[in-house]
Amino acid sequence: MINEQTQPAVGPDSAVGRIRDEVLRRRRFLLTSHARPDGDSIGSQLAMAFALDALGKQVRIVNADAAPDHYQDFPGMDRIEIAERVTPDVDAVIVMECSDLGRSGVQGLEGQFLINIDHHAGNRLYGALNWHDESAAACGEMVFDLIRALDVPLSLEIATHIYLAILTDTGSFHHSNITPRTFDICRQAVEAGVNPAIMARRVFDSNSFGKLKLIGALLDSMVLLDEGRLAVLHMDDGMLEACNCTNNDTEGLINLPLTAREIQAVVFFKMGPDDVVRVSMRSKYDVDVRRVANEFGGGGHKNAAGFTVTGTLADLEPKICERLVAAIAEGLESRPTA
Ligand code: 5GP
Ligand code: MN
Repeated sequence: MINEQTQPAVGPDSAVGRIRDEVLRRRRFLLTSHARPDGDSIGSQLAMAFALDALGKQVRIVNADAAPDHYQDFPGMDRIEIAERVTPDVDAVIVMECSDLGRSGVQGLEGQFLINIDHHAGNRLYGALNWHDESAAACGEMVFDLIRALDVPLSLEIATHIYLAILTDTGSFHHSNITPRTFDICRQAVEAGVNPAIMARRVFDSNSFGKLKLIGALLDSMVLLDEGRLAVLHMDDGMLEACNCTNNDTEGLINLPLTAREIQAVVFFKMGPDDVVRVSMRSKYDVDVRRVANEFGGGGHKNAAGFTVTGTLADLEPKICERLVAAIAEGLESRPTA
């Protein structure tokens, strides 16, 4: 049973209405999302792919990188082609979760009929059709609306991927981007057969023993600043190798320090070759790490953001931490109490 009141209003002039019309008119689609995919990018793409299947469309999914191992058993994962360049022979490319086209990491999409669906602040509106909704907790919420607008029933596969997108992009219902709509969509996914306990275990309790070792090593070397309000984590390839891990084992590690009551923000430095440093940040409540990411050329959301820079850690780390300490002070001023 679907609650009529919760269905999105889809006028012909709304972004979702225009996208629906173009999707119905076209036949061959290529779907993509950002490099180093997360649960929202995987869930949004596969939910969309299954919906397009239901409409009898032809679908290809192309990503620059493989998804972390714990996503590999979800339905349709074998459909994702990994490639850094494509020569698309399609009627439209649906780009999900990318604030600019470069975020996909897939070359060859320029000049295609692009449908841009994203919830990140600062989206560049690079598509022929752009649907940008910062109020969506996950891109999967938007994909859900589109699938509903297309009149495609919520199959178990689609519901699973929508739930996966929301579960992961809300940081398992921790972030401050959650609205009644989020739960309403999850309710419909559960009604369609999704089991929340199994989903949570599959996504969050599927660590390898190596990853547990890595958690130990990372937390052991954690540095606390700002009277324990800011946690700093460092990782390099040597640490990964010592724990028998790969880059794919690092998802979620950044959230661990936030389980300490005092810690308001975490910054995770991943040192790569040639002085390339990948910086991820997470925060609680109103501590806005996206603004810090923006200052260094990156992006994301208030509670989860990142960027990549070139330089030495000795040079970068103090600057970034100083900005984070300021963001914490600002965020704590408006901290909710209930
Ligand atoms: P993560 O720390 O998991 O890599 O990313 C957290 C969030 O920040 C995600 O929503 C991701 O899309 C965004 N993000 C991470 N790195 C970048 C970046 O380099 N540029 C932009 N625009 N967003 C990023
Ligand atoms: Mn997202």
